[in-house]
Amino acid sequence: MKVFKYGGASVKDAEGIKNLAEILTKYKEDNPLVVISAMGKTTNALEEVARAFYLNQDAFGKLNYVKQFHDHILTELFDSYHSIYDIVSNLFLEIEWAIEDAPRPNYSFEYDQIVSFGELLSTTIVSAYLKEIGINNDLLDARDVVKTDNNHQDARIDWNLTSKLIKEKVNKDQLTITQGFIGCTSENFTTTLGREGSDYSAAVFATVLEAKKLVIWKDVPGVLHADPRYFANPKKIEKLSFQEAIELAFYGATVIHPKTLQPLKRNGIPLEVRSFINYDEKGTWISDDSETKPATSFYILKKNQTLLSISVSDLDFILENHLSSAFLILAKYNAKVNLVQNSAVSCSFALDIDDLKIDSLVNELSNYFIVTHDFGLELLTLRHYKDEEIEQLLLGKDVLLTQKNRSTIQVLYKL
Ligand code: ADP
Ligand code: ASP
Ligand code: MG
Repeated sequence: MKVFKYGGASVKDAEGIKNLAEILTKYKEDNPLVVISAMGKTTNALEEVARAFYLNQDAFGKLNYVKQFHDHILTELFDSYHSIYDIVSNLFLEIEWAIEDAPRPNYSFEYDQIVSFGELLSTTIVSAYLKEIGINNDLLDARDVVKTDNNHQDARIDWNLTSKLIKEKVNKDQLTITQGFIGCTSENFTTTLGREGSDYSAAVFATVLEAKKLVIWKDVPGVLHADPRYFANPKKIEKLSFQEAIELAFYGATVIHPKTLQPLKRNGIPLEVRSFINYDEKGTWISDDSETKPATSFYILKKNQTLLSISVSDLDFILENHLSSAFLILAKYNAKVNLVQNSAVSCSFALDIDDLKIDSLVNELSNYFIVTHDFGLELLTLRHYKDEEIEQLLLGKDVLLTQKNRSTIQVLYKL
């Protein structure tokens, strides 16, 4: 039994869906369970619908864009009399019902009821297309098996119930198509697992089904030593240990969602990251026993970082109680702390934080601390670095903060 996962980029248009069908034709004897994300940038577009709905703006107008995008894909894949048109229209009707009445005060709840439709649409379309070309499959509603708490937008899996239901409902002798990213509470409300959460959903299915491996099909040849968006000629890694992959994900290598790796490692299920474009080529094999091959350094770049520094008036020492209250405030604003550095009288944090929240965060911290901040910075992390590489990468950069140990260096700089 294998589990496959395809992200938004693999199904961003009709060509992508045809390509996915070609890959599945090749593997159909294996009857994989296939986890699919929303098509292209649909999740972003539905986030805009949710936001407009919540702010009493033109949510229907924003939804129109999502409709047109999916309609266009449908007309390229199906004849005009196909039943899929009605099925997809009904899904859009459900979204319209969700945004007809006034929003509830809980934005995250409303978000989940709307944004989850991206995955419902993509899987419905892919499943129908596969059937159309003669690849039989079960379309499984992930909400019938992936049970979560009601922490909307970042729901946590109820592993016991989810395991029981997946084992009951997945037919291992049939190709199954299901959604990543979404789940359901015990009261039957839809939840989402956090942005980019489909990799994690795939890991949950692979773990419960005791899969031989999880294959994540990407627009890159595998895990590379650096993000190809920012670094030229990145090298493909053939083998990687879970340990190293967890470190890379933790420092922000977006090729794998951080939560994905732990359940796989715990259950000894290897992960393969490979290309959906050159789908016959080997990718990266991630398992418990693999050394990194070829041995290399890794570069991880996080953009749009905010540097926030706090100090206590009169040059008082920064003590544990100060830090704990600062962290509570950071958590309240969902700031993700990527680096912390403190001296006797100040503490600095490099953060990912929503632009809309920075002012309120600084205001609240200013009740207790002297606060300075700077934004639009970059955080470069190098694992297994060589000093020459750092010098080269930092040429012409205004370095604000550096932190290093034997295997890792992190540098925060201004461009
Ligand atoms: P998905 O379609 O599965 O959601 P993502 O866009 O989340 O795919 O992940 C693939 C992207 O991850 C690549 O296009 C690449 O830009 C980025 N990426 C970041 N770091 C790395 C890395 N070390 N190796 C490969 N890809 C990386
Ligand atoms: N569609 C969701 C997102 O874009 C989940 C995922 O793709 O992993 O965040
Ligand atoms: Mg992704």
